[in-house]
Amino acid sequence: MKKITIAVDGFSSNGKSTMARGLAKSIGYIYIDSGAMYRAVTLYCIQNNIIDEQEIDINKLEASINNIKIDFKINNTTGLPETYLNGINVEKEIRSMKVSGKVSIVSAIGFVRKRMVKLQQEMGEAKGVVMDGRDIGTVVFPNAELKIFVTATPEIRAQRRLDEMRAKGDNNITFDEVLKNLVERDTLDQNRKEGPLRQAEDAIVLDNTYMTQEEQMEWLLQKYKDVINK
Ligand code: C5P
Repeated sequence: MKKITIAVDGFSSNGKSTMARGLAKSIGYIYIDSGAMYRAVTLYCIQNNIIDEQEIDINKLEASINNIKIDFKINNTTGLPETYLNGINVEKEIRSMKVSGKVSIVSAIGFVRKRMVKLQQEMGEAKGVVMDGRDIGTVVFPNAELKIFVTATPEIRAQRRLDEMRAKGDNNITFDEVLKNLVERDTLDQNRKEGPLRQAEDAIVLDNTYMTQEEQMEWLLQKYKDVINK
């Protein structure tokens, strides 16, 4: 069967990773979480004092960007991909608020995007990939055969993210903090100069505010079948 490229873009915490991962699993494609890559770069900046509360040392980051190695390995117990930064598993750390609070600043830097986009294009070269992010359908794979743009109200997204964090045992955060972070990230992501978050002209929009995960999967699988059988 022919292999295609599937781009899933959209706002923060709208469940697109879950959808993209689920689709990849059910059709035997590789799943790549491009946001995890920007999160890993941000963690590197925090660990190496490149970023502090006030500012980011752009020169230092530029000098180290080629030393930042990011890969994904499947966790044998969960069957899910996990993110490695220079050989160390950082899957949990990159999801912390410390990283979420800075990632949109780091991901707005031109040379960071250039490097990540190149890595992402290499990862998807052989097709048979589902990649989720903000600029996958517009910049990384403008020729993707299937492009989805996911949206939902900020309140629903904040609640879903909070539930996810609570389920992982993170009880130190409130609904308002989560909501504030995701609205801030959306604004920065939409207004940056390079690779801003926007819907590709040929993307299909999915507003999943009132959909269950099962309904979303069914919807997405149908869109995939439509393209494959065309
Ligand atoms: O997808 P996730 O919410 O984990 O992404 C974290 C952040 O990484 C986003 O808020 C955005 O700033 C950045 N990002 C990006 N381009 C992508 C994926 C994520 O700029 N393709």
